[in-house]
Amino acid sequence: MPGFELFGDLERKEVNDVLQSGVLMRYGFDGMRQGHWKAKELESEIKKQLNVAHVQLLNSGTAAVSVALAAAGVGAGDEVIMPCFTFVASFEAIMMLGAIPMLVDIDDTLTLDIEAVKRAITPKTKAIMPVHMCGSMANLNALKEICNTNELILIEDACQAIGGTYNGKSLGTIGDVGCFSFDFVKTVTCGEGGAVVTNNPDFYKNADHYSDHGHDHHGQDRGAETHPFLGYNFRISELNAAVGLAQAKRLPEFLEIQKKNYTILRKALSDIPEITFRTVPEGGVESYAFLNFFLPDLEMARRTSEAFKQAGIDGCFHYYDNNWHYVRKWEHLKNIKSLFPISNELKIGLKYLHTKSFEQSDHYIGRNISCLIKLSWSEDEVNERASKMVEAIKFSI
Ligand SMILES: *Cc1c(COP(=O)(O)O)cnc(C)c1O
Repeated sequence: MPGFELFGDLERKEVNDVLQSGVLMRYGFDGMRQGHWKAKELESEIKKQLNVAHVQLLNSGTAAVSVALAAAGVGAGDEVIMPCFTFVASFEAIMMLGAIPMLVDIDDTLTLDIEAVKRAITPKTKAIMPVHMCGSMANLNALKEICNTNELILIEDACQAIGGTYNGKSLGTIGDVGCFSFDFVKTVTCGEGGAVVTNNPDFYKNADHYSDHGHDHHGQDRGAETHPFLGYNFRISELNAAVGLAQAKRLPEFLEIQKKNYTILRKALSDIPEITFRTVPEGGVESYAFLNFFLPDLEMARRTSEAFKQAGIDGCFHYYDNNWHYVRKWEHLKNIKSLFPISNELKIGLKYLHTKSFEQSDHYIGRNISCLIKLSWSEDEVNERASKMVEAIKFSI
C-alpha cells in the first residue's frame, strides 16, 4: 500500500485506450467505444482474483459500504454494529441511509471484539460490519455464527485489506457482502473508486441497479430501460476503472512486496522484548499492508511516535491521537454536526455516544502504532528503516 507508488506503462496504456475512444462512461456507447470496457474488465479481474461470483464497481469505498447496505435492505432506523476503530467513512456510509451506527469495542486483533458485539445486539440490529483495519481481519467464524443465530447480515469493510485471506478465502468474500476502496492511498488504486463483492445474485442485482439510478441494464437503449426501484448515481468512470484495471492485474506482485518488507521490519522489532504484535485470528493471513505493534503503555507509544517523526520515519500512525480513525476524536459524530436536519430516529439512536466509554479500545489503540508498508522501498531502505525504528523504540521505552 499504496499502489500509486508503482504507476508505469501498464496504467498509461489502459488510460490511453479510453482517451482514444473518447468514451468515459461505463454504460452504453457500444459503437463508439472500440471494444473498450474498462469497468467491466476490472470487475472480471476482481472476480477472478478474489474468487467471488459478483463484483459491482463504484466511485468510492464509502459508496461501496452504502450500496452494500442498501442492496441488503438495511435502512432507516436499522442498527448496524461496527467497531470504534475504523475510518470515518464506515459510519458516514451507514448514516447516509438513515441507519444507526452502533460503535463497539475492539480487542487485540484491532477489529471487532466478539463479546462486545454480542452485548450490542438489540431487536433493531440488522447487520454486523467488521472492518478489516490495517490489513488484518476480525474473527469471522464467530461473527458468522452470531449472524446465523440472530438472522443478521454480515458485511465486511475490507477497504484496507485487499489480498488478505481467512481459511483460504479472500477477505470481503466471507460475509454476505464485502466492500473495497480503490482511493488514491489504497493497495490497488483507481484514483477514486470502490467495489461491492458478493456471492448473492440478488444483492448483486440490487447493487448494479441502485448505483445507476435504478437502471435495469437490459438491452442497448438506456432511455428505454425500466427502473424497478429508486436509485442514485455511484458510477465509476472508465478513466478511473482503466487505472484500476492495470493495478489489479499487479495485485499478486504488490502483495509479495508487502509481505517481504513487512517481514523484515517485523523480524527486527521482534528482538525488543517489550514489543508485542496484533493478534491475527486463527486461519487468517494478513495482506501485509501495515505492520501493527503494541508498546507497554500509552506514554511509551506517544514517545515512540514522536521519536519516529524526529528520525524521519514516515507513514507510522498513533491512531489514539488521530482525528480520523478512532472514536476518541469524533466529536462531530457525537454532537451530530450535520449541515442539514437528520431524522429524529437517528438523533435518538446516537444518544448512547454521550455516555458510552471505550476503555478496552483505549487500552489497545493507546498502545498501538501502525506502520504503512510501502511498495517502492529498496531492500537497503527497508533494512535501514528497521534499524532506525528499533533505535527509536529503545530510546522511548
Ligand atoms: C478508505 C476506506 C474507506 C472509504 O473509501 P473511500 O474510497 O476513500 O471512500 C472505508 N473504510 C475504510 C476502512 C477505509 O480505509
